[in-house]
Amino acid sequence: MKTFTFRIGGVHPDENKITAEVATKVAALPKQAIIPLSQHIGAPAKAVVKKGDKVKAGTLIAEAGGFVSAPIFSSVSGTVAKVDMAVDASGYRKPAVFIDVEGDEWEESIDRSDKLERLSDHPELTPEEIVNRVRANGVVGMGGACFPTSIKLTPPPTAKAEWVIINGVECEPYITADYRLMMEHADEILEGVEILMKAVKVDKGFIGIEDNKPKAIELFNQKVKFHPNIKVVPLAKKYPQGGEKQLVDAVVRRQVPAPPAIPVNVGAVVQNVGTAFAVYEAVMKNKPLFERYVTVTGKKLANPGNFIVRMGTPMKQLIEACGGLPEGDNKILAGGPMMGKALPTVDVPVVKGTNSVTILTDDDAKRKEPNPCIRCAKCVSACPMGLEPFLLATLSAHKDWERDEKEDIVSCIECGSCQFTCPAHRPLLDNIRTGKQTVMGIIRARAAEAAAAKKAAEEKAAQAAK
Ligand code: SF4
Ligand code: SF4
Repeated sequence: MKTFTFRIGGVHPDENKITAEVATKVAALPKQAIIPLSQHIGAPAKAVVKKGDKVKAGTLIAEAGGFVSAPIFSSVSGTVAKVDMAVDASGYRKPAVFIDVEGDEWEESIDRSDKLERLSDHPELTPEEIVNRVRANGVVGMGGACFPTSIKLTPPPTAKAEWVIINGVECEPYITADYRLMMEHADEILEGVEILMKAVKVDKGFIGIEDNKPKAIELFNQKVKFHPNIKVVPLAKKYPQGGEKQLVDAVVRRQVPAPPAIPVNVGAVVQNVGTAFAVYEAVMKNKPLFERYVTVTGKKLANPGNFIVRMGTPMKQLIEACGGLPEGDNKILAGGPMMGKALPTVDVPVVKGTNSVTILTDDDAKRKEPNPCIRCAKCVSACPMGLEPFLLATLSAHKDWERDEKEDIVSCIECGSCQFTCPAHRPLLDNIRTGKQTVMGIIRARAAEAAAAKKAAEEKAAQAAK
């Protein structure tokens, strides 16, 4: 099998995909769903329900809070207990709708049948109608970034989409949610790809799958015989191949320039397999995004597995379904060991961006004592963005934000490859993350200041003209 991969940097962490062959189960409904209003990049959604309101699964509970935002739907049926603050996976308290669960009634407008709907049978679905349905049903990127999908499907007039590239890579160790989705819903995903291609008016789609998933490659190669415009691209396993820019390079050999450039500037609209599935459900079944595939994993868990989970289900409940927390100290992550974030508490709810709950034992998670940098440049060779991680980390530690910006810290995709490879165990990613956040804050403030100055000048000119 001929394989492809991205050309700059990359590392090979242990896979630990211990749940790959564990068929997905439907997670039990929570007693109370806690549904955060900020589950996407952009403005938080605005609640449209109040205490005492009755809702069903699929009822709109919060409308989009701006252009870059997404509506939120109830994942359960029951009664709104309150709209209040709740701690989410970031550790911050943010507005959320609390719903006491009663039964499991769904909105009648949702098609709950298993019948596969083919795009070719629905000529009424114009690109505009597709984008409207995707927006109205709250679909966001399911690979973790959670950018509202409808916006990605309406590229700026200066960019021309040439291909849809589907990310079936799942390069993060431990996580198998996308793999299970691919094995269990290949037909729906392929219809989702057709829908995405129609939305952005292209006639070529690719699905990138790493060669550590031979069954998925075989299955999709069989299925694409009925989708002549879609091609499976087998990729040589390398982390972080699931990064948008790395995937574009691996599949179509184009390099996406530094921010603010995005993949569509080189012709690629990149979507995750989970997003393709959510788009299929939104467009063909009128189903809002209120549940998703989640892996709950860890070597010491009694019964790790994959689950279909309603948004708002506390992660604690999923861990209990896998046999409970193992004895001893554990580090619990939302996401995998490379890019995941440590959870402040297991009471935080599953949201649109939750692909995994990973429980590392203290031995797995323990950081080794950092030593002085030996200038080996391994971090530079590993960086998939062509950055100099040792320099960015040092500049951040010294709060030299100006040079951090000059050295392009905002291009860092926070993949952790540098830290993973460092023989001196330097906390590179921690420092770079802090630096990147600070520099992005400075850039945003500068842009806001420039916009305010421009507006003031325009108002002054208008006054003078009167
Ligand atoms: S975390 Fe950032 S600096 Fe480190 S390897 Fe990844 S992209 Fe490069
Ligand atoms: S890999 Fe670690 S020791 Fe080597 S240059 Fe980078 S920071 Fe220094």
